[in-house]
Amino acid sequence: SKAKGRNAICFFDSSMQEILEKRGQLETALRGALERKEFLLHYQLQMDSSGRPIGAEALLRWNNAKLGSVSPVQFIPVAEESGLILPIGHWVLETACAQLARWQSDPRFNRLCIAVNVSAIQFREAAFVAKVRNVLQQSGIQPWLLKLELTESLVLDDINDSILKMEALKNLGVKFSMDDFGTGYSSLSYLSRLPLDQLKIDQSFVRDITTTDQHDAAIVQTIISMALSLGMEVIAEGVETEEQREFLDLRGCQAYQGYLYAKPMPIEELEIKLAQLT
Ligand code: C2E
Ligand code: CA
Ligand code: CA
Ligand code: CA
Repeated sequence: SKAKGRNAICFFDSSMQEILEKRGQLETALRGALERKEFLLHYQLQMDSSGRPIGAEALLRWNNAKLGSVSPVQFIPVAEESGLILPIGHWVLETACAQLARWQSDPRFNRLCIAVNVSAIQFREAAFVAKVRNVLQQSGIQPWLLKLELTESLVLDDINDSILKMEALKNLGVKFSMDDFGTGYSSLSYLSRLPLDQLKIDQSFVRDITTTDQHDAAIVQTIISMALSLGMEVIAEGVETEEQREFLDLRGCQAYQGYLYAKPMPIEELEIKLAQLT
């Protein structure tokens, strides 16, 4: 009926309004969050197939006085739309490299790499390569200990620009991982053109491999074969059970990340964990 339709529209309008208000709140709070030192990095352990730690992924955390702890799933899109991801992403890069620099003087940690997520907005900036070069120089780290995580949609959005920038960064010694792999338009023809070091199997495939989903198991097998045939390392994320790890291991997966090993945690906790493992 008409009345029902109008209610539906009212409901839609008010929920849209709420979303917009929430977004506005987030954006306002995000402005100045860097200056107020509200960000911090958590690190999630990455392991090789023989149980040795190989490094960690840096994951951004935001604690705001009014909003509390906000998930990156919520605030990263707002940071991207507002352009705030540029200074925030730069801070992430600097902070991760400063951590790598501190690890250099400690024989327990000096071979570990740190993976950093790069937003498309950051990567498309003309100055991106120069910014990474500066951070590498200022921190004085060995560049191959820094791994940049890119997504398929980021790379494919402008494949020629992506190849140029990746080659330039590759020449500096930086490593690349393709994040969330399998969720985009994976094809051998573009993969072989990119100077990638690692493919990261998306957690959505890992979730169901050992139980229900035959298709996910087949996709995972294909991704691993593809990575190996292209001479890339393959890592699985979102590994939560021993069964998942074993399934992946039998099919040639070389590295793992997930709650089975460790949740993302503050650096002090990661170092304690690492010290126990080595
Ligand atoms: P992502 O890069 O795919 O990161 C993996 C996400 O999976 C993280 O969520 C991590 O906490 C979660 N995770 C790790 N192991 C497991 C597991 O075993 N099971 C399950 N269910 N989840 C697991 P988080 O930290 O909430 O980050 C969400 C997303 O936010 C990231 O997805 C990434 O896209 C984005 N993000 C985080 N930090 C940054 C950053 O510094 N820069 C940019 N541009 N994006 C970031
Ligand atoms: Ca990632
Ligand atoms: Ca991922
Ligand atoms: Ca993801």
